[in-house]
Order: sequence, then C-alpha cells, then structure tokens
Amino acid sequence: MDHGVIASLLRHPVGSAFVLLDVEGRPLASNGAAQAMGLPGAIEAYMDLLAQAGGPSLAAGRMVPCVLPGPQAASLEGWLSAVHDEHGQILAYTLSVPEASPGAGARPAVPARLQAQLGEQEVMLREAQRIAGMGDWSWELSSDKVVLSGELPTAHGLATDPMGGRQFLQLLTRASAATLVRAIRRMKQESVPISLDLELAVRREALMQVRVWGRPVHAPDGRLSRIVGQVLNITAQRQTDALIRWRTELLNRVSALGKIGGCEIEVDTRDLQCTEECYRIHGLRKEAVSLDQLLSLYTHESREAFQAALAQIAHGSLPEQLDLCFHRPSGLRVWVQVLIELDKRDGLPPRFVVLFRDISREREASERIDKLAHYDLLTGLPNRALLREQAEDAIREAVEQGSTLAVLFVDLDGFKNINDSYGHATGDMLLKLAAGRMHQHLRTSDLFSRFSGDEFVIVLRDLADPGDAGHVARKLIAALAEPLEWGDGMIKLSASIGIALVDANHQDFDGLLRAADAAMYAAKESGRNTSHYYSQDVLLRAQRRREIENALHGALEREEFSLVYQPLAHTAGQRAPAVEALLRWHRPGHGFCSPAEFIPIAERCGEIVRIGDWVISEACRQAAAWDAAGLRFDRISVNVSAMQLRDRGFAERVLAICHAHGWSPTRLELELTESALIRDTEALRHCFDLFEKHGVPLAVDDFGTGFSNLHYLNRFPVHRLKIDRSFVQDMLHDLGTAKVTQAIIQLGHALGMQVVAEGVETVQEDALLREQGCDEIQGYLYSRPLPPREMSIFLRGRQDSLVTVAPTMAVAEH
Ligand code: C2E
Ligand code: CA
Ligand code: CA
Repeated sequence: MDHGVIASLLRHPVGSAFVLLDVEGRPLASNGAAQAMGLPGAIEAYMDLLAQAGGPSLAAGRMVPCVLPGPQAASLEGWLSAVHDEHGQILAYTLSVPEASPGAGARPAVPARLQAQLGEQEVMLREAQRIAGMGDWSWELSSDKVVLSGELPTAHGLATDPMGGRQFLQLLTRASAATLVRAIRRMKQESVPISLDLELAVRREALMQVRVWGRPVHAPDGRLSRIVGQVLNITAQRQTDALIRWRTELLNRVSALGKIGGCEIEVDTRDLQCTEECYRIHGLRKEAVSLDQLLSLYTHESREAFQAALAQIAHGSLPEQLDLCFHRPSGLRVWVQVLIELDKRDGLPPRFVVLFRDISREREASERIDKLAHYDLLTGLPNRALLREQAEDAIREAVEQGSTLAVLFVDLDGFKNINDSYGHATGDMLLKLAAGRMHQHLRTSDLFSRFSGDEFVIVLRDLADPGDAGHVARKLIAALAEPLEWGDGMIKLSASIGIALVDANHQDFDGLLRAADAAMYAAKESGRNTSHYYSQDVLLRAQRRREIENALHGALEREEFSLVYQPLAHTAGQRAPAVEALLRWHRPGHGFCSPAEFIPIAERCGEIVRIGDWVISEACRQAAAWDAAGLRFDRISVNVSAMQLRDRGFAERVLAICHAHGWSPTRLELELTESALIRDTEALRHCFDLFEKHGVPLAVDDFGTGFSNLHYLNRFPVHRLKIDRSFVQDMLHDLGTAKVTQAIIQLGHALGMQVVAEGVETVQEDALLREQGCDEIQGYLYSRPLPPREMSIFLRGRQDSLVTVAPTMAVAEH
C-alpha cells in the first residue's frame, strides 16, 4: 500500500515533526514535535500555495520540498506529499520537518492574559460574556415586550430597545420561531425551564446559531408572567463540531483505506486505547481490552518482539518498525506492520503510539510469488529453478559417493500440433495427464520437474546399473502411449527421451542437461517415440547443430546464399513451365550445406524470417528479369516456413516485395507445409485474406506426410497440392501407394485444386502420374535444380524447341 498514510509516514524521517492534512489543507493530526513548532497553523495558511506549486509532483506521488515561516522568524524546511486512494484521488497530505531544521523545538510565545489586567468583577463578567459571545433576553408576557441585552446583540447590531414578541419571532428563521413558540407553550403548561438551539437572522444573508436558555418567572397568582434567560452564539462551535466530525470520519476513512489501526499505550499503567480499525484488524469487538489480552493473540515470537520493542523505546531507543503475526479469535492468521513511537507531550503521561497496518495480502502475495518461483502452476511439479537447486545437491552426492545418477530429458512428440489442432485447454489437460502418468513410474527419491512447455526433466538417483535409466525411459514411453479417448477419436502421446549419466566429463547440472538434451534430439532424429543415451555420436551431432547455428548468423550479410531453380512441367499441351526457387548456402571453406539440414536450424533460431524475406525478394527480382528478357514461364514458387507465416506483417512484406520488383503477386506462389496450415489464428487468417485479395496462389508442399486432419483445405485458399516425393518413389513398387497418389489427385480435383507430383525421376513414374490425371510434374526426369543462367537456357530451349517432352538437360547444379 504505497498510497497509504503509513507509507507516507514511513517515508518521512522518523523523529521529525509530522502533520496529516485533509485535502483542503486543514490539519487532521500532528505529533508533539509539529505542535511545538506551530506547524499545523503555519501549514494551514500556506497550504494552497504549496499544493499549487507542487501539483504535478504531488499527484505523481513524490515528496515535494517546501519552506514555511517558523517561530522567531526562523524558516522551517520540510517535505510535503500526498496520500492517494485506490483511484489515484488525493485523500490527504502529509508534511514533515526533519529534526535538524532550524527552529525545531522552539515554542511560540504564550499571549499575555487580558484577565490579569482587568480587576473588576463586572468587567470580567462582561469580558467573559464578550468572549463567549453571550447575551441576555427577557420576555414580559403581560405587556408582550421582548428585551435583548449584552454582548451578543451589541456585537451583531441587533436592536436592544424593547420590541414586540412578534417582532422578536421574526428575527428567527421560520422553523426556529415555531420551535420557540412550542417550547413556551410547554413552559406555560409544565412550568419547566427550556434549552433550545435556534437560528437567528442577524442580517439578511447571515444566520447565527444560538443556544437559548429560559426559565419561567411566575406572578404571585402563580401565572407565568416572564421568561428570562441567556443567549449564546454557538455558530463557531457548531462549525467546529461539524468539522471535527467530518475530520474524524475522514481520518477513519483514510486509515480504513490504508487498513491502518492505531492504539495508545500508557507507559506506566499499560492502559490501552484502540481505534476502530485497530479492533477490526485484530478481529476484536469494540470493547475495552487490555494490552495483555491483545498480546495474547500474537504468536510467541511476535509477542516477544513486540514487548522487547516497547521496552527498548521506553528506554530511549528510536521508533521501531516490525512485521508481526497474530491469529484473530476466529483463527485467521494476520500479518501486520507495526510502527511504535513514544509520545511525551507536556502535561500528559508518556504513551506509546502504535500504528498497525494489515499486510496479510502483501505477505500472501510474496508467499505466492515464492511458490511461483519454484513450482509450475499447471502440473504442480517443481520448475526449472527448483530442479536446479535439488539436482545440484543430488549430483554432488552422487559424485562423492560414486553412485549412478541419470538425467532424463523428456520431450513430447508433435505436441505443438496437438495444441494447434485441439486448442491450448486440451493441450494443458494432456500435459497434466502426461505428468501424472510419468509420475506413477518414478520413485519418491527421483526428481521430476516440468522444464518448459512440453519438456520434462527427471533425475534418477542411486541406480543399480546404468542400463536401468533406459528401462525407466521405456516404461515412461509405454505409459504415455496408452491411448486416450478424446471426443470421437483417440489421442496417443509419444515422447522422445534423452539420457545422460554422471561420468568423468559430466559432473555438473548444466553439462548433464546439455548432454541429455542432445541425446533427446538424437532420439527424435531416429524416428521419435524412443530413448537414446548420450554418446560420442550425439555429442558430434549436437556440436554440428551449434556450429551451423553460429555460421548462420551473418551468412546473409556475407552473401553466402543463392537460389537455384527447378522447372515444373505441365502435363497438358505446350504450356510454359512453372519454376520453383530452392535455397542454397555456400559456406566458405565448408562447401554447400543442405537446406534439409540448415533450414530446421534456421527455423529454431528464428533466422529463417530474414533469410525467407531475402529468398522471396531474390526470386521476384530474378523472375522479373527473366520476364523482361522475354522468357516464358507460368509462375515462380518459393518455399515458406511456418515460422515466417507467423511473423507479424509477413503478408504485407510479400506484397511490398512484389511491388518493389514490379512482379505481379498472382505469379508468385507460396509453398507451405501442412503444419503451417493447422493453426487457425486471427493473424494467419489476416495473412491469407490479404493473399486471396491480391491473388497470391498457395500450394501445400509435401502433401500427405503431415497431419491427417484436412480441414485446413476448406479453411484456407489453397490452389495446389504437391504430392510428396516419398509417394512417387514407392508408387511403382507398391500398389497401395499408387492408390494413395490416385486418391490425392482425385481429392485435389474435387476441391478445385491442381495437383503436382515432385521427385519424378523415371519415365514410368511420369507415365503413371499422367494416367492418374496429375497436372504438373517436377523432378530430375525433367531437370535438376539449376543455377539462374542454366535455368534461362532451359527456358529459352523450351520455347525454341517444338518437342513437348523435355530434353533432360544434364547440367548439374554447380
Ligand atoms: P522441397 O520444397 O520439397 O523441395 C524439393 C526437394 O527435392 C529439393 O531439395 C529438390 O532439390 C529435391 N528434388 C527435386 N526433384 C528431385 C528428384 O527427382 N529426386 C530427388 N531425389 N530429389 C529431388 P532441396 O533443394 O535440397 O531442398 C530440400 C528442402 O529444403 C525443400 O524441400 C524445402 O522444404 C526446403 N527448402 C529449400 N529452399 C527453401 C527456402 O527457400 N525456404 C524454405 N523455407 N525451405 C526451403
Ligand atoms: Ca517445395
Ligand atoms: Ca516437397
């Protein structure tokens, strides 16, 4: 609660003079030091100016320096700050003047008393009346004469000559006149004195609040003959009362807002006085309570600390601030911040002034943050940070005792696809389920943590044999593989697990984790749903991945990339072929690196976005140049990774690149993989809407290898399917595969799409695909991917020759 009074109190140096003011700048409360300096009065006079000058800083919650006139022409240098409510509204101000300020401790001179000079009793009475603003009145009932006399009528210019009763009543407000008439009637009947608060109209515009006393004077026959009494001006007192009521209320509100309770403890008697909020904080009823009763609520430790602080402060120590804990009578545990000061005002017995602020919420929050810092909220498992702490101990112990310890890195296979197709809620549910299933196969001495997303790390201690780690890994995989009914279908989880053992080279947590992670990659590469021990081979592959990742950084700037082009021949007639751009990376000193190897790495490290932009730009530039040179081709296609598609502004950039090279977006085809199309996010939809609007054709690459759910074909504007090379390879030897290619071609046509076959190497494959109705053929049979110059020769050759079947140009790329 940094907007609370206590926060303000705590920001001001302890021991300084301190005043709490309301929004109008009127002092609500002040400590002894402040009163001694006459600070409440000084600040009241200057508050408007100060609040104006410090406006923005005060509003922003800062402390603002200010200078005030002090006693004996000294100046007081202090600090002003504002107290805000939860909406940022200023509720009150606080002002402090540090002890060192000149003038602190000096007292204003006591004014000489007038009474001492006035001897005469009469004069003294007058004076007393004058000071009190009193007057006399009498009402002669028989003659109906009212007479006002004394200080009150003189001071306010009221007539002191006798007046008629009616005339007198007219001096009162209508309601007051009625009240007085009713009271006199009662006096007549019951002969009792009266005491009333009335409103007197002194001038047309000003009302005076008066208290009127009257007593009956009876004639000898017992009838009421006269009323005599006093009138007291209580206007100022009424205002003060209202102000005090209002201030008390405000103070209560401020302290309730800040949950600040207070109490005073008399040092000698230990008598205790509590504020409302103090009772509320302690869960006590508002009735007298002793200090010992209050302290009995506190925990043993807190009670001791409280008592010790009181004792030290009584013996002259500085004020103290403590965090203490108690239980309300209901049993609820409460944390309070307690500020204790000693108040030694003249004439009063010394008292401890204690402020309590309820900080249970903050305490809970910090406990929660502590939990957040160590546990994963979804699965309740220890997180990375806690794992590290525990694992480091376990590893140290294993090294010392020479026992066998294994770190298992578990990664769920294809989990991103599950998240994408079933949604995150299902994904979360499955993660919990996976954690639960694995847990059942671990011993209590094993450490099990959620490392991140779909990755778990397990530390197995005291294994009898290194081979046991593999047994455990197999058990975990089998447990996860248990199929799960989901909606109409089944979900099957699988995992790849890497295993690293403590050995001479791996005796620290980070090293073991890296080794287990590398082994996990090896498990993924060898077909997933399996486990793999860390080995020399794994080490080499991991090193290779890191080396490629390092070499990729800056490769674009060093101009190490180039494009090669492969034609896609139309099966019908003599139509111009299409061209696919394929990326090549030449690493100086290393030769060419295959895109199949470096693209997944570029995707993981995010470099693919920049590289992909370059590919599109270079392909458009080349296409526009060929077009300008009169070469005929249908379109140019580029491969686009899922990651590029998810990058903000991708579609806009593609269109801008086309525009920059003067290449029509309708002749730039984007080849996407099925995994890129599974997501149906707002961003993806925006991307595809833009492509559709500008006529950018989309093709699904490697069709048939990815996800079995084909709904995306309806959702997104796909124009072309590219049958994966693996089907073409097998279709001549396996009847089943041939049926698959036939089915894909029929499916594509049924959906109004064109179908391409890639990786066509033989005339037989070509013939069968043509028979099945395939629209375009791509593969070594027609041409390998060619560098730009050879590609232009190829295109020119196609235009010049009348032969429909391509001459297999044996120009190898590079
Ligand atoms: P892809 O898009 O399926 O490209 C076809 C791959 O098959 C190319 O390999 C091509 O050289 C090869 N290929 C073409 N015809 C035949 C054939 O008859 N027989 C055989 N055995 N192979 C053939 P490449 O160029 O090594 O590219 C491999 C993969 O790398 C591509 O597969 C594509 O997924 C990715 N790739 C290439 N360039 C880019 C690019 O600029 N961006 C992205 N994101 N990925 C790219
Ligand atoms: Ca492709
Ligand atoms: Ca492909």
